[in-house]
Amino acid sequence: MKITSVEPIHLRLPEVNERCDGSQETLVVKVHTDQGIVGLGEVDSSSSVAKAIIEAPLSHKICRGLAECVFGHDPFEIDRLVHRMVEGSIFFGRQGAAIQAMSGIEIALWDIVGKTVGRPVYQLLGGGFRKSFRAYASILFGDTPAETERIGRQLADQGYRAVKFGWGPMGQSEEGDIAHVRSARQGLGPNIELMVDAGLCWDTATAIRRAKQFEPFNLTWLEEPLHPDNLQGYARLSANSPMRIAAGEEICDVAEFRTMMDVGGIDVVQVDVTRVGGLSRAKRIGWDSAERHRLCVNHSYKTGINIAASLHFVAALPNTHYFEYCVEQGALRQTLTRQRFPVVHGEIQVPEAPGLGVELDEAVVAKYRVR
Ligand SMILES: [Mg+2]
Repeated sequence: MKITSVEPIHLRLPEVNERCDGSQETLVVKVHTDQGIVGLGEVDSSSSVAKAIIEAPLSHKICRGLAECVFGHDPFEIDRLVHRMVEGSIFFGRQGAAIQAMSGIEIALWDIVGKTVGRPVYQLLGGGFRKSFRAYASILFGDTPAETERIGRQLADQGYRAVKFGWGPMGQSEEGDIAHVRSARQGLGPNIELMVDAGLCWDTATAIRRAKQFEPFNLTWLEEPLHPDNLQGYARLSANSPMRIAAGEEICDVAEFRTMMDVGGIDVVQVDVTRVGGLSRAKRIGWDSAERHRLCVNHSYKTGINIAASLHFVAALPNTHYFEYCVEQGALRQTLTRQRFPVVHGEIQVPEAPGLGVELDEAVVAKYRVR
């Protein structure tokens, strides 16, 4: 089997605004083969930048587009092709958008292999530790504490057993920060798990203070309170926080995740398969975290492709039982894939169909495709 083309497809809602919702646009990747099997992947990045990184023509040996690195090769040789993409882009890549773009192709390769051999991807990854995960509804804070409380009550009524609020108004004032977390807890009631995503909004001393102030609200974890480069800050915070500290979604590099665990001391390691270079690298990070006795959870704020790939990823790990489940209502998040991944009694199931187990609704692709 040979790869005949890589097709990056930029999808974008007619209106995209500044709120921190990554499902307003996305980059889908199709990898075509000479046997007619097409693999699907997704990239969480700046879609225009990632598309250019995939399509770029050769400049010289270590400066080439990712599509050219895999063209004509056997899609089963995933590690070798990842190595080719890393080495072929090393001059401009190594981190950030080049690794994020690689994710889309790598995930599509696993989809091709799974479809060819008739197995779900989680089995190819050696997994099946769990087939069902506690889906925590992931949503942004309301503009006011009253709105946050209302959102919490709605999600509780929908049957979620865990909810994460993030970004938005966090960091504007001490009073406001506490009011929003208190309102989130009031909306959910005492028995639903609550996570808070601070969205990189504090310095170290403030983050330590907030962790202590939030203790009465019984958080499952406090996420990304600090800038991802503030490694010493994470070390101080983790040593002084009464609750778990979560981070990782800004990180693309396998070694940097290890440093964030070993020096930063984080308790919850958040891995986005559409950012870290795909499923193989995600699995390495996941097992690094398992060996350090940390909880590993997916980060996902894109479409059904990311949801499917993330389910296969976490199913191949022994150290997780949560699943980040984006409940944004935009058309790409809700309708791009035919599979809708319903949450029933707070749980989401791992797909069992060959490959990733997702198909695109091509009418949705045509409607939102950027030409
Ligand atoms: Mg987050």
